[in-house]
Amino acid sequence: MFFSNGESEKKGKEVIKNLYHFSEDQMLDCNQYIIEDLDTKELALFDTGNGISLKGLFKGMAKYNLDPSNITKVFLTHEHVDHTLGLYPLMKLMVDSPPQIYAYGETAKILREGDVSRIFPGNLGIKPSMFGVEIIPLKVTNLENIKEIEISSEFKFQIHYTPGHSLGSICYYENTKKILIPGDLVFQMDKFLKIGSFGRYDFPGGSLDALKKSIKHATELDVSILLPGHMGIVLENANQHIDSAFKTIQTLRY
Ligand SMILES: [Zn+2]
Repeated sequence: MFFSNGESEKKGKEVIKNLYHFSEDQMLDCNQYIIEDLDTKELALFDTGNGISLKGLFKGMAKYNLDPSNITKVFLTHEHVDHTLGLYPLMKLMVDSPPQIYAYGETAKILREGDVSRIFPGNLGIKPSMFGVEIIPLKVTNLENIKEIEISSEFKFQIHYTPGHSLGSICYYENTKKILIPGDLVFQMDKFLKIGSFGRYDFPGGSLDALKKSIKHATELDVSILLPGHMGIVLENANQHIDSAFKTIQTLRY
């Protein structure tokens, strides 16, 4: 297997009540987030990882008594391989009661068309078979004209279109709990150097200019908890991290 570790448990943490983080633990994977609606027991999953890590996610979920068959909604932050490939094994497993998939604009289009070249951007030198998946067209709800999604009585997320890392990139923002799920827009800043961190803009569909504008938009949101697609999560004062990313990206020229 190209990626070792596929079966290893994705380590979970209850970030705040009913919201769980499962951290990436292998190459080309991503952080995943799950929100449980305690009334219905339904689960909403944010990003699906690389497919190989799905078993590890299920193992991690079991520790918190979260049953994968209760996943009814999948929300994607963007179209890239490390965030979307898990959709294919997940949909296979849940063929009798498939979750509804939500994505924005280009991401929805790419997944509906099963556009391999856009899911695997640039020259990464990887292909679906290395992950044991086959890309097939999927039924996807486009979030483009949806301002807010309600996951439970406790969690309502606004949709903010934030291109730059990719054309279909969005952030999910919970304004009462001040939670931002930014995908690969911004990351936790370097703890020691205090240098801000943000997503790559050199893949097809990426743009430094768009990324700057999108990060600026994120600086205008009131954010305490930052739950990014990669590396660590931030549990307080997340605006510092976003401001720092904006400061850093402003120093870059074309
Ligand atoms: Zn990405």
